[in-house]
Amino acid sequence: MSRQHHAMSRRRSIPVPIGHVVIGGDAPIVVQSMTNTDTADAEATAAQAAALARAGSELVRITVDREESAAAVPHIRESLDRQGLSVPLVGDFHYNGHRLLTKYPACADALAKYRINPGNVGFREKRDTQFATMIEVALKHDRPVRIGVNWGSLDQDLLTRLMDENSRAREPKDSSAIIHEALIVSALESAARAESLGMGRDKIVLSCKVSDVQSLISVYRGLAARGDYALHLGLTEAGMGSKGIVASTAALAVLLQQGIGDTIRISLTPEPGGDRTREVIVAQEILQTMGLRAFVPLVSACPGCGRTTSTVFQELADSIQTHVRERMPVWRERYEGVETMSLAVMGCIVNGPGESKHADIGISLPGTGEEPSAPVFIDGAKTVTLRGPRIAEEFQAIVETYVATRYKPRTSELLSAPSAAAVR
Ligand code: SF4
Repeated sequence: MSRQHHAMSRRRSIPVPIGHVVIGGDAPIVVQSMTNTDTADAEATAAQAAALARAGSELVRITVDREESAAAVPHIRESLDRQGLSVPLVGDFHYNGHRLLTKYPACADALAKYRINPGNVGFREKRDTQFATMIEVALKHDRPVRIGVNWGSLDQDLLTRLMDENSRAREPKDSSAIIHEALIVSALESAARAESLGMGRDKIVLSCKVSDVQSLISVYRGLAARGDYALHLGLTEAGMGSKGIVASTAALAVLLQQGIGDTIRISLTPEPGGDRTREVIVAQEILQTMGLRAFVPLVSACPGCGRTTSTVFQELADSIQTHVRERMPVWRERYEGVETMSLAVMGCIVNGPGESKHADIGISLPGTGEEPSAPVFIDGAKTVTLRGPRIAEEFQAIVETYVATRYKPRTSELLSAPSAAAVR
């Protein structure tokens, strides 16, 4: 039985089209990512953006920090188009976005959305005019914006104003509450200013990123309660390895469960030489394990224990997971709904048959002292029992047959349409 998508009630937000992708409204939660190459190196950035898109990133953000980067953006777009990748590119601007977007109209045109950080858009009297210039460019090119506040670059004038007001209050709040409030107010006041300049609410996405889990939850709850703008969720500076994954998942899962969030990005620091696409896989896995979207068949595997003294079942779980990921690009093109398939690879008789019955296809390997046979369960019923050294290959063949017979072939119209994953 395929794991069901939970029809969880999502907060109503205004849908924001970004190229062929929609953030907010009824659209599924969008997975996005960001490159870490020097954008001025168009070749390297296009290669990484392509890898992120192929891994399933539905939007790719690139930093546009200087003139050379702005000049490279149209070439990056062209390179992706030549590869048949229509993934929208988002430009990340700080300090000089007003100048770069004005001086490089081809850059402004090649980008599908501009990220504006209200804390880094200029200081004092220049802030308003530089913010207005960016909004005017967005209006001219008919592009949406993300007003992305970050507590590492919070508007200090605004924070001082709120701190002063708080100190005069009869019951002053603690300073962290004021920082949370400043993040929310910075986003909402900037959005109101963009609207006063002529930008529609269907062109504005908001984010307020912090690196602390409880603060993120508190800030986004406040933000969600005070407007219907589409929201971009992410724990900034989440960190490396398991810490980054756990912190991001803990924060995002709470908010997503409450229906808050229209697009997510996982800010993982790659290990040296690590693969940037990891952040895309983690984002997909968060959404899929919560039952909010399906991207790739999931393999459940038991953790193993003293009942499995050999590594056979670990190797089988790994080989099945790898096989599924490798085959998925072909399956996705050919079969409707294959991404909802569930598999189980279990280590012994204790939970093996039971868990295998809950999956679409499951295999229960023999634990220590058990008869060397591996029953296979399909749609809850035991079908064959595998034995011998070729269990992995035989099980993969069973999975292939199951996919081909269980999922409806896509029609040619569907095959020529844009990738389903990209538009959902
Ligand atoms: S299914 Fe068997 S091998 Fe796997 S964790 Fe449970 S008892 Fe251990």
